[in-house]
Amino acid sequence: MTEFQRIVLIHYHEIGLKGHNRSVFEKRLMRNLEALLEEFPLVTIHRVAGRLVIFLKEGTERPVMLQVATRCLGVPGVARVSCGFKCDRDLDLMGQAAVQALGEAGDFQTFKVASRRNHTDFPTRSPEMNQIFGATLCRAFPEKGVKMKEPDVTVGIEVVQNASYVYAWSRKAIGGLPVGSAGRVICLLSSGIDSPVATWRMARRGAVCIGVHFSGRPQTSDASEYLVDDIAHVLERTGCIGRVYVVPFGDYQRQISLDAPPSLRVILYRRLMFKVAERLAEREHAGALVTGESLGQVASQTLDNIRCTDAAVDMPVFRPLIGTDKLEIISMAQEVGTFEISSMDAPDCCTLFMPRNPETHAKLEDVLAAETQLPLDQWIDELVELAEVTDYKCPSYKPRKPGAPAAPVAR
Ligand code: ATP
Ligand code: MG
Repeated sequence: MTEFQRIVLIHYHEIGLKGHNRSVFEKRLMRNLEALLEEFPLVTIHRVAGRLVIFLKEGTERPVMLQVATRCLGVPGVARVSCGFKCDRDLDLMGQAAVQALGEAGDFQTFKVASRRNHTDFPTRSPEMNQIFGATLCRAFPEKGVKMKEPDVTVGIEVVQNASYVYAWSRKAIGGLPVGSAGRVICLLSSGIDSPVATWRMARRGAVCIGVHFSGRPQTSDASEYLVDDIAHVLERTGCIGRVYVVPFGDYQRQISLDAPPSLRVILYRRLMFKVAERLAEREHAGALVTGESLGQVASQTLDNIRCTDAAVDMPVFRPLIGTDKLEIISMAQEVGTFEISSMDAPDCCTLFMPRNPETHAKLEDVLAAETQLPLDQWIDELVELAEVTDYKCPSYKPRKPGAPAAPVAR
């Protein structure tokens, strides 16, 4: 029996639409995949006819190929992943590869063939190929049935310029744009359910995400920091996060709770968080802040309060979850793989020094008046100085050198 080289095919329709930017996006996706698949036995990744082809080392077993394919499913920019064999443009060999691919497909009752010819220099047309390979497979699997609508397995056969690809495993992936194609953002990352999802959504639109976590330390334990680290490790698997800053915030919250009106505490904590995050954004040359807020979810997430927190900074603040509800967010968190970690309890600064009756319709003038009592500029300097950095694997993120000049926000 002929041994065919195993390949994983990466489809990316959205990038395909990007006109002259296309090759930039393709190269970015290719570099991201190369780095993220470092641990696997790859030979190379090529751009072929509007897709990427990952060539696996000779002798690579199917389970390893499936691991590679499964990892690719979550990488931003990948719309569909198929895996199987590379084959010469020879109908006999392609038939053999189709038999092997279907033979590996596991439990199934029905199948169909979907052939595609990307080059008209191959003389056999797609409908003819479907017939030829359909007949071959019926002979090889006489106990199985052909079904055109919703078969258990579809055997894909794609003919490109110098080769063909044959596969019986194909899955829809997360889509979006490759990380690194849409600038940098600073994501306010708690250990809760929402903000990891918001971060992931921005990464899926191509942004390099850098997290900032405000810990209740030293007023609370560092438990939330461990959860945030676990969350970052999940996001790291698909290259969605480059770095996390952990800011020990407890003493500053305590001071606010002593010096400011109780009802405004939450807004004052949040404005201080935003200001610190903005300063870190300048350092990182990031263009926006991101939060996991959704309208009306808790007291601080009313329109009035959102307006008051936004007014603390000049940078745009993105809230990718603003119009989603909790059940939708939970289901996304499960898809991303952060839900279980986020469901663990850890006191962070959110639970610290909470007032009995937080203001739900704060007025900006009251908030600004309360802030005049606080040495905010000094606090921001101190908190930025205290921030602790952890880097994660993100092929598109190059940490800035210590001491490199910050990018001032246009005021
Ligand atoms: P999450 O599930 O993301 O914690 P939440 O529903 O608990 O959100 P809040 O606690 O009001 O809502 O937080 C709103 C947003 O503020 C969060 O999504 C996150 O972006 C940011 N945030 C809250 N707490 C922290 C924190 N300790 N460190 C960094 N960002 C935070
Ligand atoms: Mg929270």
